[in-house]
Amino acid sequence: MGKDEKGFGAGADSGAAACAGGFERIYADAGKRVKIYRVSPTLYYRKADLAERGQCNTAFVVGDAGVAVVDAPPGAAELADEAMELFHKPVTAVYLTHAHGDHIDGLPDFLDREVAIYCSRRYAEALNADGKRCRADLVGIDGRLSLTLSGGVPVELFTAGDVMHSKYDMFVWLPDVGALCTGDSVVEYQTAYLHTADVTGWINGLQRLAQKPGGKWILPGHADVPLPYSYIGEFAEFLKVVRRAAARCFDAFEPDTPPDGNRFAGVGAEKLAALVDRFFDGGLSAAEGLADAARLTRLAGVQDARREVRMALWAMIREYLG
Ligand SMILES: [Zn+2]
Repeated sequence: MGKDEKGFGAGADSGAAACAGGFERIYADAGKRVKIYRVSPTLYYRKADLAERGQCNTAFVVGDAGVAVVDAPPGAAELADEAMELFHKPVTAVYLTHAHGDHIDGLPDFLDREVAIYCSRRYAEALNADGKRCRADLVGIDGRLSLTLSGGVPVELFTAGDVMHSKYDMFVWLPDVGALCTGDSVVEYQTAYLHTADVTGWINGLQRLAQKPGGKWILPGHADVPLPYSYIGEFAEFLKVVRRAAARCFDAFEPDTPPDGNRFAGVGAEKLAALVDRFFDGGLSAAEGLADAARLTRLAGVQDARREVRMALWAMIREYLG
């Protein structure tokens, strides 16, 4: 995809481009490749650039006396600067949706500030095990925690129980806005990363999330703009097709030498990639499989659809190998 296809170019800062998906853009910086949209007077979506700067998309929750940021991508100090410039308030809290680098590599920028850092208890334990001393308060969540940000902005943090996108997933729910910050548990189709996922746990978790009353918007870790809440159900259906495609490849796998009990022993990435390519090119299954391949390609694109099925297949093999 060309650099300016997503409108980060210097000329993209005027006219109709100042509004996307119905959200007013209040900030754009072509150098940082960042745009910030107002979702409500207390919630803002920060669209960043994964490919060029390694940053996930994040959000600002704005209270009377301080701002909470969702996630800490590399270069996170600039989020604190933006909070001061746009809202004239310091960052007082950080909510971490999970522990992949594009979401947490900027955490050191907050560790020596007077902030509270909230994350899943599993991740808090991993951070504590690192033994780093810091000024920030670390709060681990297991289940649900209701907070009120200064000025009366209610925020609910919760974990899913199941491993979904990763074992450290945490969600940020803004009940007054009906908005859910999903991290990477809900993303655009072409940006699903399954390398630390439990695909079945992910689908189950999404189906529960989709039932949540009052949901209007999701703020994904990777997407151009906030998406309607109903997208959660659509994304669950997409992952079901990814899982079905990976299962076809899993079943069709034939080892080079007769297995001694473990048919995936020593299997390499190249062999599995060729198997997934065969699935997409129609050499593996009947009409039903071809329809799935076409659907995945249409939604995620030729290369990303194959990458996602490869990752789901690896997840199945990891589970099989124990
Ligand atoms: Zn992730």
